[in-house]
Amino acid sequence: MFLEKLRLDDRVAVVTGGGRGIGLACCEALADAGAQVVIAHIDADVTQEGRSYLKSKGFSAEAASLDVTNSAQVTQLADALVERFGRIDILVASAGIARTGTPAEDVTDEHWLNVNDVNYNGVFWCNRAFGRHMLQARRGAIVNIGSMSGFIVNRPQRQSYYNTSKAAVHHLTRSLAAEWADRGVRVNAVAPTYIETPLTKYAYETPGMVEAWLRDTPMGRLGQPHEIASVVHFLASDGASLMTGSVVSADGGFTCW
Ligand code: NAD
Repeated sequence: MFLEKLRLDDRVAVVTGGGRGIGLACCEALADAGAQVVIAHIDADVTQEGRSYLKSKGFSAEAASLDVTNSAQVTQLADALVERFGRIDILVASAGIARTGTPAEDVTDEHWLNVNDVNYNGVFWCNRAFGRHMLQARRGAIVNIGSMSGFIVNRPQRQSYYNTSKAAVHHLTRSLAAEWADRGVRVNAVAPTYIETPLTKYAYETPGMVEAWLRDTPMGRLGQPHEIASVVHFLASDGASLMTGSVVSADGGFTCW
């Protein structure tokens, strides 16, 4: 009975930014549990690589073009996918950017707006568009990828724009969860530590940065995408049927210190 709750057979899942990194690992985890997965992506080449990777593991995923900052496009895609599949059961909002390392006093309007547009507005447009259909069906699970940066201030890199965008994602998650809890739609978030993906690649080229991160992490290591995907899988499944509005830390203990 307990393992069955983790199965996602016959469920349709959309993963934004699913072509690589954490999003791709989420696609693999959800497909492994039986879900039909759709990668909603801004970059066709990256997504093709992601699909090839999934194929090599014995899984398939459909792909749909999407810029999460374009709310009209997000709504159109949600409507089109519901038309096609009959429903969407799971949304994983993983698309995000960091544009790392700019002191607050030097952050331009464009920089601030761009990061918040992708990381925060984009998450809302997706939650709203897919959430509407889930509310109609009175069934759905949304998992937003937040960050431990929504709880703590990253260091040594200066990232006011990123930290605040992730804190906003956490509170958006709780706000939507409270609004939709009695209509069958659960909304949760995962708050990862530093994960080895293209997003954190810059850190290896910045002397001392990874070492500083490791010193601040009780487990003394970075995370791997699959370690976030397994938490996302759980939150998306019936195993988490009583969970909504939770922001689950998967951070190697980082926020303990
Ligand atoms: P990544 O750069 O590997 O993947 C991000 C994906 O988002 C890419 O495929 C990119 O094409 C896509 N994307 C960017 N802008 C988009 C847009 N406007 N519309 C649609 N897709 C867009 O990064 P990742 O590490 O896999 O990050 C995934 C999520 O996890 C992000 O929200 C990130 O903030 C969060 N996160 C990452 C870490 C980390 O250390 N890697 C830690 C905490 C949280």
